[in-house]
Amino acid sequence: MITRRSFLTKSGLAVAAVGIAPKSFSDSLFQNKQIPVVISTWRHGLAANEAAWKILSDGGYSLDAVEMGVKVPEADPKVMTVGYGGIPDADGNVTLDASVMDEKGNAGSVGFLQNIKHPVSVARKVMENSPHVMLTGKGANKFAKENGFKQENLLTPEMKKLWKKWKKEDQEFSSKINIEDQILENHDTIGMLALDKNGRLSGACSTSGMAYKMHGRIGDSPIIGAGLFVDGDVGGATATGSGELVMKTLGSFLVVELMRQGKSPKEACEEAVLRISKKIPDYEHHQVGFIALNTDGEYGAYCIQPDFTFAVKSSKVTKLENAESWFKRL
Ligand code: ASP
Repeated sequence: MITRRSFLTKSGLAVAAVGIAPKSFSDSLFQNKQIPVVISTWRHGLAANEAAWKILSDGGYSLDAVEMGVKVPEADPKVMTVGYGGIPDADGNVTLDASVMDEKGNAGSVGFLQNIKHPVSVARKVMENSPHVMLTGKGANKFAKENGFKQENLLTPEMKKLWKKWKKEDQEFSSKINIEDQILENHDTIGMLALDKNGRLSGACSTSGMAYKMHGRIGDSPIIGAGLFVDGDVGGATATGSGELVMKTLGSFLVVELMRQGKSPKEACEEAVLRISKKIPDYEHHQVGFIALNTDGEYGAYCIQPDFTFAVKSSKVTKLENAESWFKRL
């Protein structure tokens, strides 16, 4: 059974923390306990973190680390919520969203991208090789082609079969709280945040979006400030779950701003979930999970429903953590 917690206590905590001055970057380097460090959403974050760690442990750049990390589930057909092998939309098309952001506040993203296996790398190219932040649909695909990305069919026979079954039997769109597949252990969007040896914080996010979404739907993951936000002087945050709720509250931006006001990463994530609970009437039917990392190398997470996991890797730890949730399992 899941219980709801008291809003009053949470609001009280929120007020008390406002006004605490942020730590300066130089202070944080000295107090740092975990630099470099990488965190990412869900169980598939474990393998993704390993790829990111190869770069971080070698003194490399956090932006390279998050790109290489996120490419792991993008290429894995067993991960049915990201990249190749992702669950299609209602019309049977795999359409992908991704974003990246670096420590200087540069950002790039792609939405509704089809037939390209690594949307995170296209998002990085948008950031580095275009005057824009976001490209979508045909334009994003044209840009990817021009930048040397190969066109590939991303709909695997397994996902085609699943989609056909859904078309025949179900045909309804409903947000899944957590996608649980006992055989494949599949879960949602990959969001990753990394802080490198030189104190540079970057983030990336990639998804095939909500299963059987309407054709043309873009979620929170490529919306800078919603699915991902990084301020190199403060920290970064990324989100997973029902993108519509995250977009309506600009969740990741909110988490970073709360850290700027002095909240710990976990407190900031919790406050962003509180905001959703106050503003979105049917939030209890949804899952949203946030993870956050500050420039001290401190990390945290919080979610609406139980069972949101996130992966952590540093020189001290390699682990999968269960995030604390708004609703509790008794
Ligand atoms: N946030 C993603 C979206 O709304 C989906 C997910 O994380 O499961 O597209």
